[in-house]
Amino acid sequence: MSILDIRVLGDPVLRKPTKPVIEVTDELRRLVADMFETMYAAEGIGLAAPQVGRSERVAVVDVEGKKYALINPQLVSRNGAPEKAEEGCLSIPDIYGDVDRQPEVTIRALDENGNQYEASANELLGRCFQHEIDHLDGKLFIDYLSPLKRRAALAKWEKEKEGYPGNIRKVRTEVKGEHHHETEM
Ligand code: ZN
Repeated sequence: MSILDIRVLGDPVLRKPTKPVIEVTDELRRLVADMFETMYAAEGIGLAAPQVGRSERVAVVDVEGKKYALINPQLVSRNGAPEKAEEGCLSIPDIYGDVDRQPEVTIRALDENGNQYEASANELLGRCFQHEIDHLDGKLFIDYLSPLKRRAALAKWEKEKEGYPGNIRKVRTEVKGEHHHETEM
């Protein structure tokens, strides 16, 4: 397994909708394993393929030990009145914002063995599923912020992004804990 570079805001790959996986191959399983390793090294709770420069419709999630490989995930249903909570993104380090999302979701996806499953979730896991599926459609959490808050976030990012030449974030395991924030996905 290897730790992959994370693409940050400004890389066009983050805005490109992904392509469905046709077959779950060993190569795809390797990608899933590398994405899990990268997510853990970066101390995130979710990671989607475009964040590592890939175009497959694949994401990984681990919220409080609930671990999912999401291959071709779809939202089956979304319920409840929208709730506001803080989100961050491994591709927009150090920027956080409150996002309104419906609290209960059911998703359908394939696992690493190509078997279809459904999962229902609420709270942080439900939020994380929605955040990752958004990534696979080229959408980012900052898109949900009010114009004023989005402008403030982007102004802060203008300075932050200087630390990521070429829109590349090298995941350095030795600085674990430095930026730890439990809502980065
Ligand atoms: Zn994200």
